[in-house]
Amino acid sequence: MNNRDILICGAGVAGPTLAYWLAAYGFRPTLVERAPALRTGGYLLDFSGAGYDVAQRMDLLPELSRHAVRVDETQLIGQDGRVKHCIDMRRTLGASSDRYMTIARSDLAKVLYEALDDRVETLFGDRILGLRQDHDGVEVDFARSGSRRFDLVIGCDGLHSHTRRLVFGEEQPFIRSLGYCVAAFIVPDYPDSSKGVYLGYLEPGRQTWCYGLDDGRTAFSMIFAASPAPRFQPGDTAHHRDLVRAAYADSGWQVPKILDAMSDSEDLYFDLVAQTRMPAWHQGRVALAGDAGACPSLVSGQGSAFGMAAAYVLAGELHAAGGDHSRAFPAYQARLQPFITAQQDKVRRSTRWVIPKTSIGRHLQDTLASLLSLPLVAKRATGRIADVRLPLPHYPR
Ligand SMILES: Cc1cc2nc3c(=O)[nH]c(=O)nc-3n(C[C@H](O)[C@H](O)[C@H](O)COP(=O)(O)OP(=O)(O)OC[C@H]3O[C@@H](n4cnc5c(N)ncnc54)[C@H](O)[C@@H]3O)c2cc1C
Repeated sequence: MNNRDILICGAGVAGPTLAYWLAAYGFRPTLVERAPALRTGGYLLDFSGAGYDVAQRMDLLPELSRHAVRVDETQLIGQDGRVKHCIDMRRTLGASSDRYMTIARSDLAKVLYEALDDRVETLFGDRILGLRQDHDGVEVDFARSGSRRFDLVIGCDGLHSHTRRLVFGEEQPFIRSLGYCVAAFIVPDYPDSSKGVYLGYLEPGRQTWCYGLDDGRTAFSMIFAASPAPRFQPGDTAHHRDLVRAAYADSGWQVPKILDAMSDSEDLYFDLVAQTRMPAWHQGRVALAGDAGACPSLVSGQGSAFGMAAAYVLAGELHAAGGDHSRAFPAYQARLQPFITAQQDKVRRSTRWVIPKTSIGRHLQDTLASLLSLPLVAKRATGRIADVRLPLPHYPR
């Protein structure tokens, strides 16, 4: 087999999935992760579709289920601070699919990483400074681990991929903002959340979500309209907090208290709600997977699923091609890109209904919420997350 030594940049969702399958096929993957250890905190995600299928092929469903959080009910809060709609999540999501769970992104990433069972070298707290491709390999300069040579490099380093920047250029032509920002954080002790219940305070152009985890912590996510997209630097948490405070300055319900809680949270996630659109997912010996190459945005509820599917298919195509990247990379892109692009287009069109900016849009959303007890309406409304079908090929080992 050719091209055995493969560097994967990013130990999030796509990176460890890719490492798992490459190792299973006899390749020698190495992971490099910028963070000093696996990330904690973050946000909850809906996990279903192709991600669920790949996890099953990795025999990880029992372990993931142990970390799944139970969402019994979603309560939508009205402008007067009272519960306006109560949605039975089991019945509503059950109308679409039972292959579905809610899990913290950090737990999903941890379970995927632990499935590697120490078989894969991981360089934590390091990053790629530069890379040079030649006819038979890639010379990689690391910030801490000197220079090393690999046969192939795969960027799984998320929406703002540095690997992509090094190989394809600045991110600006590839990132498409959907006109919103998102902040997400978990705090240890917030008194007004309920275990197993999602509380959603939805205003025109602003959503605030709050969920009480079983261990007593509370997870928050806040999504607000921001067009044109504000300028901010990754890691500048003080500025991120200011942007959120400014966007919610006149908001009601528990929001002032939630903004105080945000000030105490250590691990604030903040970013644009955006998609990655790349004409090509590979160049020479370098390819991209997950959000780095094709982020569908959080509105899709499918980013982790698509990232895992991309990792699974990329590893499978490399295996099927005996490691020949010149055949495997185009085959990988041809298998997935038409489907993912169509989903991205759908998400783009539906975002203004999912996070409406106007009072009329909010009113329609309330009308839909009041109809969710009808199975047919529930099936259509939740199909977005629970029923996106991406058939995965089988790659015999
Ligand atoms: C608020 C929110 C809610 C979401 N909800 C859902 C949902 O309900 N369902 C769903 O499926 N998806 C959801 N998503 C999307 C999902 O989280 C992503 O699509 C998924 O995490 C992408 O996986 P990834 O491995 O490509 O990237 P990431 O998970 O972002 O991982 C990238 C990794 O690369 C590392 N890294 C970055 N730069 C470097 C570098 N230079 N060198 C080394 N390492 C680097 C990072 O530290 C990180 O560990 C949501 C996202 C957000 C923000």
